[in-house]
Amino acid sequence: MLLPWNTYFIQLFFPDLCHLCERRKPLRGHGLCGHCLARLPYTHYHLWVDNPFVERFWGRIPLYAGAACYFFRKGGLARHLIHRLKYEGKKELGIWVGRQYGRQLMENELFAGADCIVPVPLHKKKELRRGFNQSACFAEGLAESMNVPCLTRVLQRKVYTDSQTRKTQIERLRNVEHVFAVRQKSSLEGRHVLLVDDVLTTGATLEACALALLKVPGVRISMATMAIAE
Ligand SMILES: [Zn+2]
Repeated sequence: MLLPWNTYFIQLFFPDLCHLCERRKPLRGHGLCGHCLARLPYTHYHLWVDNPFVERFWGRIPLYAGAACYFFRKGGLARHLIHRLKYEGKKELGIWVGRQYGRQLMENELFAGADCIVPVPLHKKKELRRGFNQSACFAEGLAESMNVPCLTRVLQRKVYTDSQTRKTQIERLRNVEHVFAVRQKSSLEGRHVLLVDDVLTTGATLEACALALLKVPGVRISMATMAIAE
């Protein structure tokens, strides 16, 4: 793709621009500029036990703790961030959010007691096509700042599901119910698992993963996502 000459000029002299706006220089230690950082819509749900994230799973699965870092709104900055991660391959953005959010989650003893991080897996075919799993990037950053292992192989997506954007909630539930399987069950016995994904919408995918994980004896489930759709 051909860019305007002044873009090349800018990139030549300021090679490191904010990953989100690509206009301003990032703050030291961040991939984002101060302007974007200040505009990110934090939920602060990790400081609140019965928050709307946890409420969304009431009567569905026993959830130990749950929180999302940002609000996911139409035209919002968090949506833009996740779009750049998923469709423009900005893996460093996912890892950065994970690192930041891991530090925040450690402020709550419920999350601080997690033994391992498990990202919602993509189907092998889809991961090959995209080249990476966006949830695993977020999980990698979380694992780093929470100092626990990130287990990317224990949960497996067995069935290739179509894009779920135009399905109703009931159709979605039917679609994902038997999609996931747990491998190496013994490695998870009695563990507190922090299950992570990019965005919480209806929660059908996270619920299906949790149901598969809860078949392992003594497992406790907490969840964290980069964003929550309202
Ligand atoms: Zn910026």
